Amino acid sequence: MVDDYLSSVLWTEDEIEFRKEVRKFCDKEIYPIADEIDEGPYPRELLRKIGKAGYMGVMHDKEVGGSNKGLSYEIIIAEEISAANGGLDMARMASTTLYGMPVSKFGTKEQKKKYLMPVVSGDRIGCIGITEPDVGSDTAGMKTRAEKDGDDWIINGEKRFITNGSQADFMCCFAITDPDVKSKEGMSAFIVDTSTDGFSVVEDHDLLGMKSARVSWLKLEDVHVSSDMLLGEVGQGFPILMDELDSERTAIAGEAIGYGRTPFEVAVNYSNEREQFRRPIRAFEGVSFKIADMAMKLEAGRALTLTAARMYDKGNNITKEASIAKLYTTEAAIEITNDALQILGGSGYTTDYPIERFLRDARLMTIGGGTAEILRFLIQREVFKQMLPKE
Ligand SMILES: Cc1cc2nc3c(=O)[nH]c(=O)nc-3n(C[C@H](O)[C@H](O)[C@H](O)COP(=O)(O)OP(=O)(O)OC[C@H]3O[C@@H](n4cnc5c(N)ncnc54)[C@H](O)[C@@H]3O)c2cc1C
Repeated sequence: MVDDYLSSVLWTEDEIEFRKEVRKFCDKEIYPIADEIDEGPYPRELLRKIGKAGYMGVMHDKEVGGSNKGLSYEIIIAEEISAANGGLDMARMASTTLYGMPVSKFGTKEQKKKYLMPVVSGDRIGCIGITEPDVGSDTAGMKTRAEKDGDDWIINGEKRFITNGSQADFMCCFAITDPDVKSKEGMSAFIVDTSTDGFSVVEDHDLLGMKSARVSWLKLEDVHVSSDMLLGEVGQGFPILMDELDSERTAIAGEAIGYGRTPFEVAVNYSNEREQFRRPIRAFEGVSFKIADMAMKLEAGRALTLTAARMYDKGNNITKEASIAKLYTTEAAIEITNDALQILGGSGYTTDYPIERFLRDARLMTIGGGTAEILRFLIQREVFKQMLPKE
C-alpha cells in the first residue's frame, strides 16, 4: 500500500481520508480500463463521472458546485488519477484547473454560473488557449488579436497544442487587445464558446503519449465574443495568465508523482520476483540502488509539491515554489519511469507492463506548462529578487 512507504505525516487527517476515497474511485472506475482508454475515444463519460464524484471542484467555490478544499486536495486527485492514467488527468485538469481557475478567480457571478458550474459538474469541458504556432515560451509575443466592434470583440488567431481543444465547450482564450502597448499590458482574457461561428479545429496532434487526452490545433476566424465574455478587465490578461500558471504548475507536479509512483511499484515487485544468477534481481545493487533513488525522488517531490500547495492555499505568491515543485517532480518522473523500465529489462519495453505508457506520458511534462529551461529561469529570477532586492 502506497501510504506505507510514502510519508503521510505532512498531510491532515482529512486529506488522508480524501486520498483513500479518491483511490477507491480510481480502483473502481479507472484502473480496470487504464490501458483501454489510451486506445479508445475521448473519455468524456469518465470525465463526467469524475465531475459527479466532486473531483473537478476542489479548487472551486460551493456556489458553482465545488468544495473549495484547495490546491492541497487538487494535488491528491492529480496524483491518484495520474497513477492510473496520465492523459485522463491531463484532460481533467485542463478543464477544471487550467480553464477553471481564471474563470473562478476573475469571472463575474454570471460568468461563473454559466461557464464554470457545468465544468465543475463534469457536464461541460474547458480548455485554455495560450500557445500559438509562433508563440510558446515567450507568451508575451502572442499574436492572436481581439478587436472591439461595437459591444462585441472579434478574435482572430491560431492556438496550438491545446489540451481538450477539439472536445471543449469553452475556452479561456488569451489575445492581444492593444498592440500599441507592451503585450504584458495589452493582453486580455476571454471566455469563448467553441460553438461560435469561426471557431474550428485544424487537427488533433498525433502525440508520443497522453493518448487518452486530445491536444489540438485551433483556428479562430472572426469569432464574435460579447463584452460580457471578457475575463477581468481589458488589459488584465497577462496577470491572469501568470496567476493561472502557479496553480497549474503545482497540479502538474502532483500528476508527475503519479506517473512515477506506479512504475516504482511495478519495479519494486518485479525486482523481488524476477530471478537471475539464482537470486532476485533486487539483490544486485545496480537494481536496488535505482529503487532507493526512486523512493527518494517520490518523497522529496511530494514534500515540495505540498509546500507549494499549502502556500497557495494560504494566499502566498508561489511562483518560485510552484516552479521548483514542477521542475523537480517532472524531471524525477522521467528518471523514475526510465529506471523502472530498465529494471524490467525486455519486459519493460513491452506493452505487457504499463511502464512504457508512463514513460511516454511523463516525457511531456518538462515541456507543457513551462519548459524545464523556462522554470530554471524563473527560479533563479525569484531567488535573486528575494535575496538581492533592489534598493
Ligand atoms: C501535449 C501538450 C499539451 C499542451 N497543452 C497546452 C494547453 O492546454 N494550452 C496551451 O496554451 N498550451 C499547451 N501546450 C503548449 C506548451 O505549454 C508549450 O509547448 C510550451 O510552453 C513550450 O512552447 P513551445 O513548444 O512553443 O516551445 P518553444 O518555446 O519554441 O521552446 C523550444 C525550446 O527552446 C527552449 N527555450 C525557449 N526560450 C528559452 C529561453 N528563454 N531560455 C532557455 N531555453 C529556451 C525551450 O525550453 C525548449 O526547449 C501543450 C503542449 C503539449 C506538447
